[in-house]
Amino acid sequence: MKAVQKAISQILPVIPKPIVGFFAKNYIAGENLEDAVRVVKDLMAQGACATIDVLGEEVTEKEHSQKVAEMYHKVVHTIHEEKLDSTVSIKLTHMGLKIDKEFCYENVATLLQEAKKYNNLITIDMEDHTCTTDTLALFQRLRKDFDNVGTVLQSYMRRTINDINNLLPLKPNLRICKGIYNEPREIAYKDDFTINQNFTYAIEKLLSENSYVGIATHDERLVWEAFRIIDKYNLNKDQYEFQMLLGVDTQLRRIILNEGHKLRVYVPFGKEWFAYSTRRLKENPHIAGHVMKAAFRRFLGKKAS
Ligand SMILES: Cc1cc2nc3c(=O)[nH]c(=O)nc-3n(C[C@H](O)[C@H](O)[C@H](O)COP(=O)(O)OP(=O)(O)OC[C@H]3O[C@@H](n4cnc5c(N)ncnc54)[C@H](O)[C@@H]3O)c2cc1C
Repeated sequence: MKAVQKAISQILPVIPKPIVGFFAKNYIAGENLEDAVRVVKDLMAQGACATIDVLGEEVTEKEHSQKVAEMYHKVVHTIHEEKLDSTVSIKLTHMGLKIDKEFCYENVATLLQEAKKYNNLITIDMEDHTCTTDTLALFQRLRKDFDNVGTVLQSYMRRTINDINNLLPLKPNLRICKGIYNEPREIAYKDDFTINQNFTYAIEKLLSENSYVGIATHDERLVWEAFRIIDKYNLNKDQYEFQMLLGVDTQLRRIILNEGHKLRVYVPFGKEWFAYSTRRLKENPHIAGHVMKAAFRRFLGKKAS
């Protein structure tokens, strides 16, 4: 898997954007909020719920982040108006974290206030290690005033056990995932076994201490570990949920739903789809060959014309 990810990382930068878009389209609802609404309604008909994300990150201008915040307000209102079973996911660098932390805090706090009116939850995604400390500090600060905020911990991070211990007194709503960014070994575990052990440790620790956990994985071994822990602590269905990405392993999604568990699908939409899409393509074990072939065909087509 790691070799596939490495190979795809190397070829993606030279692949034309339309080809990346072609292969990535299943991971994204579309460019507009209406697309996300349509996808969420479809998921609801299948018995799932959702979390809507506006695509984009690493914003460098305040005006841009303000526009992002406005779009998120629209998302919160639309969820209410359309009676969608959906929370909202945000990235702090999209809301201005790298521009000005206080500006970012205000942006998120205002959104949380709005979401609170509709009893909706905002989950703060976890980005790369340059954001971890700031993200958790901002989460802890927000959590003092808001009970409708959650965040994410990544099981590849060496600090995650400590972070759980620090956050537990807040009774946090946490999504646990493996983590997708390419982090240095000093910061993140590199072997799958340890990352999986840390994932299992994290969900067991949190669930046994009555935190609400989003078990975010498509790895069937980890889904089984979650089933084991749910059984061991005799948990109710409202104490946890499974979470999966749009476009990934719909069969496993159905299996989990058929067993009666709550399952939330991450539904991203927007025009800034490239960074998210390349992260997803790197994780797809079947994609490298297809992308290469398509790029090669296109290259030959251009040469011939
Ligand atoms: C709801 C949700 C929210 C997330 N939020 C964050 C976040 O805030 N921060 C962060 O760093 N990461 C986030 N992630 C991504 C996560 O960290 C992993 O990178 C991703 O979920 C793949 O890990 P996995 O547990 O599914 O295991 P893997 O071992 O990577 O995958 C298990 C199996 O799932 C299938 N699979 C996985 N990904 C794909 C794909 N893209 N295309 C096709 N098949 C695939 C493959 O068959 C693979 O063998 C999130 C994931 C989910 C589900």
